[in-house]
Amino acid sequence: MVHSPSPQHRIPAKSPRFPAANASETVKQTLVEMEALCRARRARLTPIRRRVLEVLLCSQKPLGAYDLASALASHGRRMAPITVYRALDFLIEQGLAHRIASRNAYVAGTGNRGTTAFLVCESCGDATEIASPEVAATVLKVLTERGYQPHARILEITGRCAHCQDIH
Ligand SMILES: [Zn+2]
Repeated sequence: MVHSPSPQHRIPAKSPRFPAANASETVKQTLVEMEALCRARRARLTPIRRRVLEVLLCSQKPLGAYDLASALASHGRRMAPITVYRALDFLIEQGLAHRIASRNAYVAGTGNRGTTAFLVCESCGDATEIASPEVAATVLKVLTERGYQPHARILEITGRCAHCQDIH
């Protein structure tokens, strides 16, 4: 975890962590698993979608669409934001990415298309996914009872992570 101070809560537009060549073995392994998941669902993980997912997997923090576009620049040309948004739509539909509304930013998902919750730190910007079957079951029960059709099932709890509480 990188916990550098960021007074404006801005996510840097460019980071040396992004180049595909530096992707760790864990990221490569995860990409292989996500490719298999997409194949099983007969969903096409195109090269662009795969690259967007890879950048999200490599990032320690939620990334905005424009940060993604910059990170995906090739030969000095930034990827068109519409291309990034389309790739994100696919990834979100497949549970491979989630949008953190409070930060207007995206994080990689595990392929789970059900309800999931995030603890979002207002100091360092960290967003930690909490995989809780109990929370998911409770939300599903409430939705079913009310006949409600959710557009997204991402719960966000904002506050300060344990690390950021320690340093103040
Ligand atoms: Zn924090």
